[in-house]
Amino acid sequence: MPATTLPPSDTALLDGLSAHDLFNQGVGLTYGDFILLPGHIDFTADEVNLSTQLTRDITLKTPIVSSPMDTVTESAMAIAMALHGGIGFIHYNNTVAEQAEHVKNVKKYKNGFITDPKTVSPSHTINDIDAIKHQYGYSGVPVTENGAMGGKLVGMVTSRDIDFITDRNTPISEIMTTDLVVATEPCTLEEANQILRQSKKGKLPIVNSAGQLVALISRSDLAKNRDYPDASKHADNKQLLAGAAIGTRLADRERLDALVNAGLDVVILDSSQGDSVFQLEMIKHIKATHPDLQIIGGNVVTSTQAKSLIDAGVDGLRVGMGVGSICTTQEVMAVGRPQATAVYNTSMLAKQHGIPVMADGGIATIGHMMKALSVGGSIAMMGSMLAGTHETPGEYFYKDGIRLKKYRGMGSAEAMKRNSASRYFSEGKAIKVAQGVSGAVMDKGSIHTYLPYLIQGLKHGLQDLGQVSLSNVHSALANNTLRFERRSPAAQTEGGVHSLHSYEKSMI
Ligand code: GDP
Ligand code: 5GP
Repeated sequence: MPATTLPPSDTALLDGLSAHDLFNQGVGLTYGDFILLPGHIDFTADEVNLSTQLTRDITLKTPIVSSPMDTVTESAMAIAMALHGGIGFIHYNNTVAEQAEHVKNVKKYKNGFITDPKTVSPSHTINDIDAIKHQYGYSGVPVTENGAMGGKLVGMVTSRDIDFITDRNTPISEIMTTDLVVATEPCTLEEANQILRQSKKGKLPIVNSAGQLVALISRSDLAKNRDYPDASKHADNKQLLAGAAIGTRLADRERLDALVNAGLDVVILDSSQGDSVFQLEMIKHIKATHPDLQIIGGNVVTSTQAKSLIDAGVDGLRVGMGVGSICTTQEVMAVGRPQATAVYNTSMLAKQHGIPVMADGGIATIGHMMKALSVGGSIAMMGSMLAGTHETPGEYFYKDGIRLKKYRGMGSAEAMKRNSASRYFSEGKAIKVAQGVSGAVMDKGSIHTYLPYLIQGLKHGLQDLGQVSLSNVHSALANNTLRFERRSPAAQTEGGVHSLHSYEKSMI
């Protein structure tokens, strides 16, 4: 057993257990099963440094990443995650061209420019604006000759143009504003923002020399997008970092080439049981064909599995099996591992090889994130926590008066059907066994407000631990000064809200 490095007098005062002792009791533990003991605070929460390793070569300022799932991460999500210092992994339940386009969108993103605004043509009606407002929430819509992005800009419609018109079949051409303030390419965001500020308008269309619409900027983004000091950017070209997932079949090699051409920085090899000859072959192939690409292998939950992928040359590990909120793997396959034990064991081994571990799945609170990082994880990957934000794919819908968005497992029958012909059901008569479910989560607002809230929560958590940085947390874990305690079922009840007739939970 590793000894603590504290002098004997201080060691005697250490309450609780080291992680080593906590996780060596022969029972698999997960986040709810234990608690962290507080430390001494001599810094403010704002001083806490959450910098962490995503892979051998990529450092992030925020240890939070979004899962490659078709109800979680496409380019809008990946951009928002990267702006706040994390990264989004674009799913591959789509065509190669679609996935590559998402990667391109991340790489070409310019802070603040909306490059795919919703547009209408003069012959559309106010009903169409109402539909856009209802579905997306925007009321400022550019009007182009052909109704498409890239068409000649002929007007703008805002809520003030249509508020009091009772006939919603009125054509846009009759009510649109044609006396427009525009910015002309080339123009920087700074210049565009300056024009927008002076114009006192809500929206500023950007056109090229032919008068065709190329982008839009919004007043509400001025404050929001002003600055992202923690953004995850490539050191040389300052583009946002893009991640994506692929499978380990032969066809995925072609997919990978397209993603790399689109500018991919880091790839995840997506498999629920990653210690397979298919994944080892894929790692070898990537090392030979794209030596600069960072590879995250997985998923693994044991030291033996982890060693296999580390020996094959991965730059990061994704850990978790059967613990996702939408996942039925442990139920159906009877294989997996409680997540905290999985993260602890794999990260202890991976650390010896300089490989960071991403704790993937089963994170439902900021406290779970804290625990994932405190037992050796360098990154928290989340699906359900981030699902339901504006930036995820899919539309909101109402059920029982509550605004919801779909969230589903990638191994659910529904998700498998989306690409059924090409990927899942095309193998002869093979019977598929679903390993996930399809459900819904509540509207969580925009990632631009939600992620800063999660980040601030983590900082407060580290402050309570008495650790000013994540790297200090990992040092304290290694020298056994980070202390834990098992929680009895009664302690878990005590630690939650209890004894109230009713209560409300809100973010702030
Ligand atoms: P408004 O109702 O059109 O004035 O919408 P706001 O300007 O208050 O907010 C729109 C938000 O959605 C901003 O953060 C925009 O960057 C974002 N957005 C993304 N795509 C579009 C789009 O196609 N049109 C508009 N108007 N906003 C978009
Ligand atoms: P959550 O954050 O919702 O608890 O878990 C998300 C994670 O669950 C994903 O990152 C992925 O590893 C895993 N996952 C996603 N879809 C499925 C599925 O259909 N079945 C299983 N077994 N795991 C899934």
